[in-house]
Amino acid sequence: MNVLVLNCGSSSLRFQVIETDLDLIAKDGDKRLARGHIDRIGSLSLITLEAAGKPKVLETAPLRDQRAAIDRVLRWIVSPDSGIGGIAKLSDVHAVGHRVVHGGERFTKSVRIDAAVIDGIEDNIELAPLHNPANLKGILAARELLGPGVPQVAVFDTAFHATMPETSYLYAVPYSLYRRHRVRRYGFHGTSHRYVAYRYRQLKRLEREKVRLITLHLGNGCSACAIKEGRSLDTSMGMTPLEGLVMGTRSGDVDAAIVPFLHEKEGLTVAEIDTLLNKQSGLLGVSGLTNDMRELLDEEREKGDRRATLAVDLFCARARKYIGAYLAEMGGADAIAFTGGIGENSPAVRERICAGLERMGLTVDKSRNAAMTGGKEGEISKAGSRLKAYVIPTNEELLIARDTVRTVEGVPPPGAARRSRSKR
Ligand code: AMP
Repeated sequence: MNVLVLNCGSSSLRFQVIETDLDLIAKDGDKRLARGHIDRIGSLSLITLEAAGKPKVLETAPLRDQRAAIDRVLRWIVSPDSGIGGIAKLSDVHAVGHRVVHGGERFTKSVRIDAAVIDGIEDNIELAPLHNPANLKGILAARELLGPGVPQVAVFDTAFHATMPETSYLYAVPYSLYRRHRVRRYGFHGTSHRYVAYRYRQLKRLEREKVRLITLHLGNGCSACAIKEGRSLDTSMGMTPLEGLVMGTRSGDVDAAIVPFLHEKEGLTVAEIDTLLNKQSGLLGVSGLTNDMRELLDEEREKGDRRATLAVDLFCARARKYIGAYLAEMGGADAIAFTGGIGENSPAVRERICAGLERMGLTVDKSRNAAMTGGKEGEISKAGSRLKAYVIPTNEELLIARDTVRTVEGVPPPGAARRSRSKR
């Protein structure tokens, strides 16, 4: 089955074409046929297209909206110029898997998209006003362009965390707010945490129920997840992706009393404070320089910039604090695993996060750590370390493609979330 995986943002589109089916999944023989991304949708768009084993194609074109972007991708996929074997016409695209950011409480596993699912994703727009509308546009455009006969599946960022107990997902605010408005923690990056747990299980040849792991997804957005018996027990992002770790432009945890204080002192509106915490904080806000970790590390090394160091130190201290919290919450873990742009590529940040964890049983092996960059997967802790550390490059697209196949074939995804929700 050729599965088109789509990740639609408000002005960007990421895609992959993956050949997979139940047999290939069982043999781990899925094949990525193509991938690419389109940025700046809505103006002069930057298009990158890459078929497996072929050079990248870079183009610019004015693409008005998500529909125009998906149309461009589909035309390229079926054109002989793309050089993708086995896809010559639109009907060779057998299914579409969509990353959907917010599934709320309703979607606790991947689902085939129909009118009721579209309504459900719409209902969650108030929880993810930036993301869900773009995801929906992608779903509607793909249906229009490929026809209603091509099955489409929604894979939710929140679904992996549906197993969190009430003690993890409730805020200690009046319970009526949960009842009336579903004010609670949902968590995000679920497909990434789930993929890393799956790879860890393969590397260690473990059964799912034996996985006791802390995953750290460190990219532009960052989150940690405590995975006990193979399931999400707790995660650092909350009702929205603002809570938890320090991120590129997001503050992560703050005292909520900052909001009325800033309103009073700076005359900012609630919307302005929301923007400040989401877009002007994190590494960017502390350093005053950039949200990009690599650039901050360069500034620190080349110019000894104090605020660059402070931003990186704060980032690492917060991540370490979550590792400690999750070790306590889980009653101990066997390993921690790093993923995401920073987690996969920065030995320096990994080392700074793990510094001082020796008494908790984790000693990083300097040379193993230094070697683990650019998509490599493996252990970075010293032999004999009681708490181990790994780098596991994420691959959300593969899980989306596999969930798409399983959903279309009517096979439940492995370890599908057993719901743990409260009595109302
Ligand atoms: P992502 O959102 O997963 O693409 O991650 C983006 C982040 O990863 C940015 O902050 C990048 O600066 C960071 N990153 C990528 N490569 C490196 C690297 N070699 N060293 C440090 N940070 C990196």
